[in-house]
Amino acid sequence: MIILVINCGSSSVKYQLFNVRNLRCIARGVVERIGSPLASLKYQNNGKVFHKKVACLNHYAAISIIVDSLTDPKEGVIKSRDLIGGIGHRVVHGAEEFKCATRITPGVIGSIERYNELAPLHNPSAVSGIRACLKILRGVQQVAVFDTSFHQTMPSKAFLYGLPLRFYKKYGIRRYGFHGTSHRFVANQAAKILKRPIKNLKLITCHLGNGCSMAAIMNGDSVDTTMGFTPLEGLVMGTRSGDLDPAVVFYLMENENISPERISDILNKESGLLGLSGVSNDMRDIKKAAKGADVLGQQSKTAIETFIYRIEKYIGAYLAAMNGLDAVIFTAGIGENNPWIMKRVKRDLGKIVAKKVKFLIIPTNEELLIARDTFNIIKSRF
Ligand code: ADP
Repeated sequence: MIILVINCGSSSVKYQLFNVRNLRCIARGVVERIGSPLASLKYQNNGKVFHKKVACLNHYAAISIIVDSLTDPKEGVIKSRDLIGGIGHRVVHGAEEFKCATRITPGVIGSIERYNELAPLHNPSAVSGIRACLKILRGVQQVAVFDTSFHQTMPSKAFLYGLPLRFYKKYGIRRYGFHGTSHRFVANQAAKILKRPIKNLKLITCHLGNGCSMAAIMNGDSVDTTMGFTPLEGLVMGTRSGDLDPAVVFYLMENENISPERISDILNKESGLLGLSGVSNDMRDIKKAAKGADVLGQQSKTAIETFIYRIEKYIGAYLAAMNGLDAVIFTAGIGENNPWIMKRVKRDLGKIVAKKVKFLIIPTNEELLIARDTFNIIKSRF
């Protein structure tokens, strides 16, 4: 069976096409700058790379373009769209309702829309993508795989904030966590590599990309994670601040005379590695700049130190939360490509992790896990 995996952002649609029999990716690509005259399609079919300008006003047009490219008589990879047996959508927020991947029905679409308020930049795009697929690939079963669902096993002591409980009851203000598909994927890979059942392991997974989060995974279940009500909590990230005394927000609003929207932009888009280094949100640039003896070089070194220190602090916290630790896993852009960060953490935590804790770099593959989840749900119907 062939499964199409779709990841809709506000101005992009990423996709991968899998043959589920051998779990091989047969095509992948992205439509970018949706709604702009500069919209383009980049894709790889059978290993060949293409890059085209396209006219693309919305998610519906983007998915039509993707399906046309997959079935193109010359450059395509499948003869007909009828060969697509299922569609798996990445959906960011499933709140407390979705504890695992779920077959999409009109009721499920309604629920995803209800959680738009919790993920205003992401859930509306996912719904546009789902609706487009309903029309373009009529009759094909669709499955939603949520970033939040893996962390639904967190106990209330880990997911509650120390706020009046009525705000949890009224608005659902609690810690949800994100990147769940990635944490789940690398935790399962780690169990395979360690040749031990995941049910007997205590793992800490570090997803370090542009967004960064860690998870404490005990017996295969997430018991804590660094992101919270939104992806702003936790680690120092590319452009997000991570943990912060909430009083800083009021202080800045008052002293800089700025609006809630502006402070949100500062915390989400101008902070983290970018804000600290003053150079870039990209670890490659910061590493290069850190070699310099000038002010930006000094700031870049400090940014790297702060980034690593926060990771180490959470390793200590999660070691305590699980009362033990078998392995720490590094993944995503920064985690996979900078083994020096892993080595540094291992050295710094020398005494507590000693020889008993394994350190592993494992490439993440969220799309593959979405394809597998989609296949398992579709298959279970027959
Ligand atoms: P996203 O969260 O947007 O998917 P990625 O997982 O691609 O982001 O991670 C982006 C980060 O990974 C950037 O900080 C970038 O510097 C880093 N990165 C990606 N490739 C490399 C590489 N080859 N060497 C060093 N750092 C890399």
